[in-house]
Amino acid sequence: MKTPLLEAIRKRTLLGDGAMGTQLMLAGLEQGNCGEAWNLTHPERVLAIQQRYAAAGSDCILTNTFGGSRIMLRRHHHDGDVEALNRAGVEIARQAFAGRDGYVIGDIGPFGGLMEPYGDFLESDVRAAFDEQAAALVNAGADAIIIETQTSLEELSLGIAAARQAGAPCVIGSLAYDVTLDGSTFRTMMGIDPERAAAFMEEQGADIVALNCGTGMDMERARQAALRYRAVTSLPVMVQPNAGLPKLVRMKVVYDETPEQMVAGVGPLLDAGVSILGACCGSTPDHIRAFRKAMDEHEKQAL
Ligand SMILES: [Zn+2]
Repeated sequence: MKTPLLEAIRKRTLLGDGAMGTQLMLAGLEQGNCGEAWNLTHPERVLAIQQRYAAAGSDCILTNTFGGSRIMLRRHHHDGDVEALNRAGVEIARQAFAGRDGYVIGDIGPFGGLMEPYGDFLESDVRAAFDEQAAALVNAGADAIIIETQTSLEELSLGIAAARQAGAPCVIGSLAYDVTLDGSTFRTMMGIDPERAAAFMEEQGADIVALNCGTGMDMERARQAALRYRAVTSLPVMVQPNAGLPKLVRMKVVYDETPEQMVAGVGPLLDAGVSILGACCGSTPDHIRAFRKAMDEHEKQAL
């Protein structure tokens, strides 16, 4: 029987995967279309991407369900497919490991709006959407749930509660920070700093505190955030930094840090005590392969 994720990370750092959205575009998904629907319409393309991550050495793969909540899917008229599409997401990620032990992390992204009183979404609707998605992912056999790219504690708490209630074996809360204009620090769009986020997630019953994406959050900023998390909580830390800083090229945001550039940050992140290391926007199977090599070498040196 496979070692549970939370037990495995006590022994070694696990490697996550890289970006999904950009890989889906490369595979033919058009901007603005529903990538999650591909779990049902083009499962072989989703599988091919995740197989590349598995082959690159990922220990954990996130399901292609970032926008798989009812509220997100409604925008694409796929809200009748919540259960099927999340289930398929877990099954495809599992298949990518081709029988080898690997961890499927059910991915829940933001619902894509603001709740009352700042916006026009009812908290009860958001809660119901997260509950539904988390249940579908856990029932399909996800080893963990990640609530990622979060900027507000209110939304994050609904996601964590949903994962807990669904009986997720491991719950990961992940925030997206933006580096401040003067470059001195980083906080989420809603003004949350890493210390407050980590304390809050622990209080809410998360098992792992994480960060992903954001603006300006490269490997070094991720290291700083990991240290700030570790200063206030004993919970394990996961990071998924972007491939460098965003640049505007032909009216499109691109992240172009190469695997060679990004991999220089792996050792320092491991020394900072990170338990799961993956990557976000702009990263590719080549980045993950470079991470694998660096992590294996780092582990050998530590022996
Ligand atoms: Zn990202």
